Amino acid sequence: MHFLDQAKIYVRSGAGGPGAVSFRREKYIEYGGPDGGNGGRGGDVVFEAVPGLNTLIDFRYAQHFKASRGAHGMGKDRTGAGADDLVIEVPVGTQILSEDKEEVLADFTEVGQRIVFLEGGMGGRGNASYKTSTNRAPRQHQPGEAGQEMWVWLRLKLLADVGLVGLPNAGKSTFINAVSNAGAKTGAYPFTTLIPKLGVVRHKAREFVLADIPGLIAGAAEGAGIGDRFLGHIERCRVLIHLVDIAGEDPVAALRTVEGELEAYGADLAHKPRLIALNKLDLADAELGEAFAQELKEAGADEVFVVSGATGEGIERLLDAVLGYLPERTATETRGSEQEEAEAEPAPWSPLD
Ligand code: GDP
Ligand code: MG
Repeated sequence: MHFLDQAKIYVRSGAGGPGAVSFRREKYIEYGGPDGGNGGRGGDVVFEAVPGLNTLIDFRYAQHFKASRGAHGMGKDRTGAGADDLVIEVPVGTQILSEDKEEVLADFTEVGQRIVFLEGGMGGRGNASYKTSTNRAPRQHQPGEAGQEMWVWLRLKLLADVGLVGLPNAGKSTFINAVSNAGAKTGAYPFTTLIPKLGVVRHKAREFVLADIPGLIAGAAEGAGIGDRFLGHIERCRVLIHLVDIAGEDPVAALRTVEGELEAYGADLAHKPRLIALNKLDLADAELGEAFAQELKEAGADEVFVVSGATGEGIERLLDAVLGYLPERTATETRGSEQEEAEAEPAPWSPLD
């Protein structure tokens, strides 16, 4: 299941605060009546679908979510403060499943959708509320109601933000393994990758989904390599990383072949911005790398990154550049408006223009 991101988490709403037992004590007033206030409400556990999150990766680092308890009731008929709700932010597309995964408990389909998943406990009654004509000094009170707790699964269908293209053997699987948690299969032969492999990349406190878009070879657009089920990934991609093998026969020809495929494939692929990365730098000396990079620039690439998926060299800079194409985590306003979002997008580049 390479298309799903999932995480198991524990959620608990806050218990209500206990009611107080207290009696009014003032000068000159004998037998002041009961004045113990009620406890405050415990915090709810709320889930909210927010823009700018693409994965459930944060839930690998934090698995326990507990809302706070309500405060104790107090004397002088003061009610304890209610606890704040605990709001858990999830990406759009997240489903909440029961612990046994049999039941879908919630399904977040749009930004801003919010549900109170577990209610906080009611505050307990203070002794003031037990006062009757026959019992003027009650000592009764309630503890707060307990919170609710549950283990649940979060599940999200991943869609790629960044696509990885290149001829077979350009080093796509190796690259995706180097930068993400994907664990893709690698091999020194074409077509290792039969389905797109997705990896979640975390870089400089940002995260994105990287997809190996497989089999872009001459003829692939006619149906040899990629099928319609990858369209969702392709459409969603904001930028493509195009890997070119430095040790291949003719990097410029390789670049043109893949560019031609992007054009022929349609689905707007040719209009996606792309970053050209000359890969397998470890197999060449710096001079050769520079010469090839120059050739690619002459063929139309603005900037060429020279990297090695095997040693990690140059990858940091490439990932920095990728971040520039992704929406900010907090870009709520731009997300809300298609138009603004389109304007914010960098101009597409094509070496074949
Ligand atoms: P893909 O077909 O584009 O997914 O390419 P793979 O990742 O499967 O790599 C093809 C071959 O190139 C494998 O034998 C890899 O070990 C090798 N390879 C990939 N990246 C590098 C690299 O940066 N340096 C070197 N020396 N070999 C690499
Ligand atoms: Mg591969």
